[in-house]
Amino acid sequence: MTTELLQPGELRKVAPVFGQLSFDDHEQIVFCYDKDTGLKAIIGIHNTVLGPALGGTRMWNYATEWEALNDVLRLSRGMTYKSAVTGLNLGGGKAVIIGDAKTQKTPELMRKFAEYVHSLGGKYITAEDVGMETSDMDLVRDVTPYVTGVSESRGGAGNPSPVTAYGVFMGMKAAVAHKFGSDRMEGRTVLVQGIGHVGEALVSYLAEEGAKVYITDINEDRLEAVSDKYGAVIYAGDDLYGAEVDVYAPCALGATINDDTIGRLRAGVVAGAANNQLADENRHGLMLREKGIVYAPDFLINAGGIINVYAELEGYGRDEIMRKTENIYHTTREILADADAHECTSHQSALRVARERIEARRKEKTA
Ligand code: NAD
Repeated sequence: MTTELLQPGELRKVAPVFGQLSFDDHEQIVFCYDKDTGLKAIIGIHNTVLGPALGGTRMWNYATEWEALNDVLRLSRGMTYKSAVTGLNLGGGKAVIIGDAKTQKTPELMRKFAEYVHSLGGKYITAEDVGMETSDMDLVRDVTPYVTGVSESRGGAGNPSPVTAYGVFMGMKAAVAHKFGSDRMEGRTVLVQGIGHVGEALVSYLAEEGAKVYITDINEDRLEAVSDKYGAVIYAGDDLYGAEVDVYAPCALGATINDDTIGRLRAGVVAGAANNQLADENRHGLMLREKGIVYAPDFLINAGGIINVYAELEGYGRDEIMRKTENIYHTTREILADADAHECTSHQSALRVARERIEARRKEKTA
């Protein structure tokens, strides 16, 4: 990572934290540093009105501290709305550790990070994210109870990806019903981009219900394996965004709905697991709406993972996890109907519902 050196007495012209574009009334931002372990982390607590701020820790080799700060601000805000719209009593938070997870992550560094999490007294509860494993969360658990996503042997709820996939499937069916009048997936064509942990489980739900599934991935070995296992067709066209399918399901990267791709999209529905699918959440949401493409908001339909870890805090079991995840179907239908009624985008509608829930709780608390 590069360090930007300022001359003595030189002041940055931009406001360093509250002036960041991604700053959105965050309650608390904690910078953590430890010389011995090399820990450099930022914990972002966006909002705790509905409950403790829960969100994973991402370890990433950020090019600059600005990038790390903006990531934690953006991601923690996203967690607030994800939990709120899903009906969970959780706030939004996230942490980033600056560094290469492959070479710089040590047990000592994780334990030191856990001390910082503990010092917040439960206001922030951590979990896995990019660059983290269940075993890292187990190390954190040695130091603090404010962690989820630990091993099943230590009370963890297990792999969230199949639950996330089930929620995405439910959200997709709701969006298909909104667009085509029926939620039956039999005979529908779906292109799944990215057949990793979530994508493969999604392919399995789709295949089981008789959808015709096309798959793309940069990992060719996985393509062959998933194709053989579920009878999915490896997409052979040269422009996957222009594929003539009913549903495009982004399950790899964010920002695939952008100025370059929107004009080419032929799918009637966009519904997938990837976070931050809209490169610009307002403008690109509006462009989809104007094209008549039904968009199932990503932070709503990929909430199965957070429902799964919430179970660890609330102590409920598998049946309740799946029931809450299935409910994503109804919430998505409501949001899509609400967006039509208000002539706004589904993303804006989901945000509004989340904000209204937070505001109602805030009023109750202050009454
Ligand atoms: P994963 O790493 O297991 O799978 C991602 C897959 O996408 C891999 O197979 C990878 O080869 C493929 N890929 C990467 N770049 C690609 C590209 N340019 N084109 C096509 N394929 C590409 O990740 P995952 O856990 O399955 O998560 C998928 C997405 O869902 C991520 O954006 C993640 O943030 C989001 N998400 C996951 C969960 C969860 O429970 N795992 C929860 C919420 C959101």
